[in-house]
Amino acid sequence: MNDTLTIAVSKGRIFKDALPLLAAADVVPVDDPDTSRKLILDTTNPKVKLVLIRTSDVPVYVEYGAADLGISGKDTLLEYEGNGVYELLDLKIACCKLMVAGFPNAEAPSRQPRIATKYVNSAKRYFAEQGKQAEIIKLYGSMELAPLVGLSDYIVDLVDTGNTLKANGLEPLEHIADISSRLIVNKASMKMKHATVKAFIGKVAEAVAARNPA
Ligand code: AMP
Repeated sequence: MNDTLTIAVSKGRIFKDALPLLAAADVVPVDDPDTSRKLILDTTNPKVKLVLIRTSDVPVYVEYGAADLGISGKDTLLEYEGNGVYELLDLKIACCKLMVAGFPNAEAPSRQPRIATKYVNSAKRYFAEQGKQAEIIKLYGSMELAPLVGLSDYIVDLVDTGNTLKANGLEPLEHIADISSRLIVNKASMKMKHATVKAFIGKVAEAVAARNPA
C-alpha cells in the first residue's frame, strides 16, 4: 500500500496559519519555509512532503494527482474551473470576505458599471445572480488602484480588516462570500490512500475543532 502523502500549499498567510494544524497531524517542515528556497519540503513525518506553489495552482496540482492533498482559499476554489477535487474540510484559517467595494456614497454610473477584479468568475456569477449588467475587467493585483485612476467604478476583492480599502478612500459595499482555507483532496488519492488520508484529516479536523469551540 502506498501510504505517502504530498500536500500542496501556497507560501504566505495560508501556510503560516496552516502550520499549527499540520503540526497537530505530526507534519512539521524540516526546513524553515521562510528562508529555504526549496519547493518540496521534507517534514518530520518521513511519509509526508509539502510542495510550495502559487495559491491559484494548488487545485491544479491536486486535480492532476501531483499532490494528494492541498490547502486552498475558498476564493481560489470559487474561481477554479476544474472539477477533479473534493473539498473535505473547512480549516477556518485565513478568514476574510469577498466583497464589492467602491467610493462611499458614489452615484451609480449612467453606463454599465465597470468592475476590476482578479476574481472574474465569482464577480460574473454574483452580478448575474443580482440581475445586474456589469463589465468585468481582469486584473492580477492592486485592485484598489483601479477606481482611483478611473479604470473601474467598483472592485471585487478580499477584505479582512478593511484597512486597505480605507487607506485608499474606498469602502466595502456588498458581501459576496465568506472565505476561509479548505483542505482539498485528489479523487483517486481518496480511494487509493483512503486510510492514510482519513487518518490525516481526522487529526486536522480535531485541531480545527479545538481551535474553534462551538
Ligand atoms: P485588509 O486591509 O485587512 O482588509 O486586507 C485586504 C488585503 O489583504 C487585500 O489586498 C486582500 O487581497 C488581502 N487579503 C485579506 N485577507 C486575505 C486572505 N485571507 N487571503 C489572501 N489575501 C487576503
